[in-house]
Amino acid sequence: MQLSRFPRRRYLRGPTPLEPMPRLSELLGGPELWIKRDDLTGLAGGGNKSRKLEFLVADAIEQGADTLITCGAVQSNHCRLTLAAAAREGLKCRLVLEERVADSFQADATGNHLLYRLMGVESFRVVPGGTDLAGAMSDEADAVASEGRRAYVIPGGGSNALGSLGYANCGREIIAQCYEQVVSFDHLICASGSGGTHAGLLAGLHSGGADLPVVGISVRQPKERQERHIVALTDAVLELAGGRRPMPEAKVEVDDRWVGGGYSLPTATMREAVQILAQVEGILLDPVYTGKAMAGLIGQIREGRYTKGERVLYLHTGGAPSLSAYASDLVDPRSS
Ligand SMILES: *Cc1c(COP(=O)(O)O)cnc(C)c1O
Repeated sequence: MQLSRFPRRRYLRGPTPLEPMPRLSELLGGPELWIKRDDLTGLAGGGNKSRKLEFLVADAIEQGADTLITCGAVQSNHCRLTLAAAAREGLKCRLVLEERVADSFQADATGNHLLYRLMGVESFRVVPGGTDLAGAMSDEADAVASEGRRAYVIPGGGSNALGSLGYANCGREIIAQCYEQVVSFDHLICASGSGGTHAGLLAGLHSGGADLPVVGISVRQPKERQERHIVALTDAVLELAGGRRPMPEAKVEVDDRWVGGGYSLPTATMREAVQILAQVEGILLDPVYTGKAMAGLIGQIREGRYTKGERVLYLHTGGAPSLSAYASDLVDPRSS
């Protein structure tokens, strides 16, 4: 796999920290838990999309674009980070926001929505859940072109093969850090949404010869659908980057038991996970992705899936800038 032949902008200052979580490990009494801090990537507020945008925005600039167009839910971290990259590069940015939960758009919302406005979004169009987002973004691109400008469309979550190279790169970074820090892991846990993170990691670890099993905790789709999606996307990443193909499908594992009522809808286990990490490690998770992924990890430990003596790595993909928009779902207003 040759990542160096792709144009790339730099939004991370170097490898993100790989650290133990001794207090959480002790509290849960199971395996030794470590965390990869991809909430500490560059660009406003940080998070996993910064790695994908290194490749996507470089491609946009190479193609002579002056405007980025992307889409996401109303509190999308991906939209926030795409705007931040646009600001950094002197590009304009338009958003298509999908109300995946009916009536979830609020013009005066805090969290990521506040940051869209702060970072100078050129326009956003709110569309109902289930809208053809590719079509809506293509309409926006036409509108930009009619002004004599040039748009570059980034798919939801930045999860095409090119964007996923950011996580193939992260897989290689983890291999190098394990060597550097003289540590090894038995399992890797991450949130699995639009899939570029999960698929990119699998592609990078597989091509790097690492035999580290990855469990994706679904934040939206049922297991079978998400696994099919990850298999196809991983193969597309390997094909694009010239990685070792095929990767055995058996390596793709999704656990869909922690989604609750659906994408972005709060669950009791998510709330517990967000509170525990804040209170015993001083680490902020988010309600939509990393809280549910951590709920999955805690749940699997309680089921006895991972045992004492094993070492488990949790990938923190970011998202804390949305916390304020979910205040009432996270803390009881009557408690101090
Ligand atoms: C987008 C996102 C994810 C999911 O990553 P995908 O590559 O879309 O699967 C996880 N965590 C956070 C905070 C995100 O914003």
